[in-house]
Amino acid sequence: MEIIRQYKYLIKPNLTQKQIINDIFGSVRFVHNRFLDDVKAGKFMKGKAVLILEEYREEYPFLKTVDGSALMNAIFQAQDSHNRLSRYKSKRDSYASYTTGNLPRSPIKILNRDRVLIPKVGKVEIVYHRPLPKESVIRKATIMRYPDGKYYVSICVSWDLPDTPIFPDQNRIIGIDYSSTHLFVDDKGNKADMPHYYKEMQERLTKERKKMQRMVKGGKNYYKQRMKLASLYHREKNQRQDYLHKLTSQLADQYDVICMEDLDMQSISQFHSLGKRTYDNAFGIFQRMLEYKMKERGKKILYVDRYYPSSKTCHVCGYVVKDLQLSEREWECPMCHSILDRDVNAAINIKKQCLKNL
Ligand SMILES: [Zn+2]
Repeated sequence: MEIIRQYKYLIKPNLTQKQIINDIFGSVRFVHNRFLDDVKAGKFMKGKAVLILEEYREEYPFLKTVDGSALMNAIFQAQDSHNRLSRYKSKRDSYASYTTGNLPRSPIKILNRDRVLIPKVGKVEIVYHRPLPKESVIRKATIMRYPDGKYYVSICVSWDLPDTPIFPDQNRIIGIDYSSTHLFVDDKGNKADMPHYYKEMQERLTKERKKMQRMVKGGKNYYKQRMKLASLYHREKNQRQDYLHKLTSQLADQYDVICMEDLDMQSISQFHSLGKRTYDNAFGIFQRMLEYKMKERGKKILYVDRYYPSSKTCHVCGYVVKDLQLSEREWECPMCHSILDRDVNAAINIKKQCLKNL
């Protein structure tokens, strides 16, 4: 199965590059409208885009130096009957775009994670906030200018997915249970703690926050401390993001099916004290990342209903206890007398329940 996706990034072309891009916008608009006029006049109803472009380039030499792939795409788009009625608007400051292909002679490439090579435009600074999927191939790119003057590139990539088996290998299925003390616990008993530096950062943040509370509001030191805290928060956020990216990529590579609870993180964080909220927040981000990474790889996340008593059910005999306090980390099943770790037991149940529904 072939997967096709778009990934959009902010780009920051320099003045010369902006000029080139704006020229391409203009030429694309010109070709598009010229083509529509010709079709109206009964010309080119079935012509090949290459030949049409050749003719235009003879007639208007300024088109010869403009990105040919972008102009061809303009003709393709105009040939599409849906677009036939809509002329390009000529307002200079409105939304503008053009699409160009990744061709061997004029490739589109990400360079060093901070530049994108765009045909005819050159190496443009890019805010590469998330990488393209490893095995993907760049097909084409659409360069856009928004009314606010910002430029974006939407990169269209494709990759082949081997069909995932309907009944995956048991070793490639994992059940995970949210944990407010660890991030999550899996059905084999592994605990995904946040790294120690993250905990150290939490302690530091608490300390610096207290320091600020003791200062005179509005004073010079207060202001300084506030700046310091803001930069620490920023670093903490990056640390968390980096770690969660690594963790979710690992899981998505290692497993074909991930079973988890369909949690409402907002209602959960109300139960905890303020300090624990960062963790709940982290789990929400974790879940979103995991979701798109599994999807990208053609894999599945299965959810168990949030009312399913995953903690209170004994995974050995199936007995459901009435009461289980949050503080009880370990409990003994009154039926089969198994000693159960609260989180691991829940993770096993989540996995079992999901596979039952499969
Ligand atoms: Zn039992």
